[in-house]
Amino acid sequence: MHRIVIVGGGAAGLELATRLGNRLGKSGRAHVILVDRSPTHVWKPLLHEVAVGSLDVNANQIAYAAHAHWNHFTFVQGELTALDRGARQAIVGPLFETEAGGGDEVLPRRSLEYDTLILALGSRTHFFGVPGAEEYAIALDTLEQAERVRKRLLQVCVKKTAQGSEGETGPVRVTIIGAGATGVELAAELRRMEHTWEQFGVVSRNPKTRMRINLIEAGSRVLPALPQMVSDSAQVVLERMGITVLASKSVTRVRPHEVELADGRAIPTDITIWAAGIRAPGILASLDGIAVNRINQVRVSRSLQSETDENIFALGDCASCIWTGEVMVPPRAQAAHQQAMFLFKALCARIDGRPLGMFEYRDHGSLISLGSSTAVGSLAGVTRSGKIFVHGLIAEFMYASLYRKHMVAVSGLRRALLATIANGIGRILSPRVKLH
Ligand SMILES: Cc1cc2nc3c(=O)[nH]c(=O)nc-3n(C[C@H](O)[C@H](O)[C@H](O)COP(=O)(O)OP(=O)(O)OC[C@H]3O[C@@H](n4cnc5c(N)ncnc54)[C@H](O)[C@@H]3O)c2cc1C
Repeated sequence: MHRIVIVGGGAAGLELATRLGNRLGKSGRAHVILVDRSPTHVWKPLLHEVAVGSLDVNANQIAYAAHAHWNHFTFVQGELTALDRGARQAIVGPLFETEAGGGDEVLPRRSLEYDTLILALGSRTHFFGVPGAEEYAIALDTLEQAERVRKRLLQVCVKKTAQGSEGETGPVRVTIIGAGATGVELAAELRRMEHTWEQFGVVSRNPKTRMRINLIEAGSRVLPALPQMVSDSAQVVLERMGITVLASKSVTRVRPHEVELADGRAIPTDITIWAAGIRAPGILASLDGIAVNRINQVRVSRSLQSETDENIFALGDCASCIWTGEVMVPPRAQAAHQQAMFLFKALCARIDGRPLGMFEYRDHGSLISLGSSTAVGSLAGVTRSGKIFVHGLIAEFMYASLYRKHMVAVSGLRRALLATIANGIGRILSPRVKLH
């Protein structure tokens, strides 16, 4: 039986494993194996909500083991550490008690044999070698990091509030580096949640302790990858929220309580979050000679096959695939979804001995959430002229539907609907912010 090993159960890998499991695994035409270093899946675009405590992560996680059972594939927990292309074996490192690799060994190193290997390892934050950035700024790549941001924020707020009741204190200072979609959404969500924290006494209503949010961007405007109109609109909303945007400013060093800019300014900070730039995991550059680009993405052809090995495919953030001319497919959830849909059909064709076809990315536009009831964005392909601009409640509704679409793609309509209802009930019964 054809063995398909998919490494990485994120937006791309989980959708692909689910579809292949239900088509090829169920009928016994292939054995589909999904490998991920975590036991659960969380859709990455939700991480900024986890970081400010506005999302109940338990209600929004998918346990791979159960999901695999329901969708006819096998789940293997562990981290891809090496590859033997000659023997067609993917090597998964030992599993330890804690996700950070501490405690006793639970499972030893394993090798998984494949006929087709799919790499869907996603991306990590790129700190661009800025001194102090990795040590003192927190990235938002994983659930653990998002939880770290949340806990640190709560501690700083509680401390400043206590100091405020005894006399003089300053504001809680949050610095976000990178005003792309992640940075902008995080800044807006923070401001929104501040009002809820006030209700629970985590932050006082004392204007002296009000959060001071600085959003630093090296480019000349917020959301530099999106149309000017979307940037302008987001800038207006951010300023109305009292968020300071520092555009055209490069960060040269991060210290424990200070961020240094190229113009010599130092921004005092209590918590620094790095949301600028991505690169694919370093392991990809040492996988038995597979060709990668300068940010470790696997170089793939239009059929998403590795340029080096036709039995290996890559998709999502860890793949470098041409979109048009010199422009590459962007590292976005919608690209991950479209590539998963393409590879599902291409792998069914591969097993039947039919041609794979060519992947064509369609940009449906981008939506940015700016807190409750506000989102801005542009939608492509809606009008003849190309893009239309949406904002306000319509944009917010469309933004929320992106996650629902992901849930329907991996869990099916019935489960996604039930999860939405359960979530709605949970929001009524529990506080709107996670405080522990
Ligand atoms: C805070 C935030 C907000 C975002 N918002 C948006 C948005 O609004 N719209 C949008 O289009 N995009 C957004 N993105 C980008 C989007 O999340 C990614 O483009 C998308 O998740 C890429 O999917 P992927 O499957 O390639 O990678 P991921 O979803 O990152 O999944 C990668 C998986 O690989 C696993 N993995 C990694 N290394 C290994 C290893 N060595 N062994 C085993 N498993 C491994 C990880 O555990 C993970 O499960 C956002 C990203 C972030 C961080």
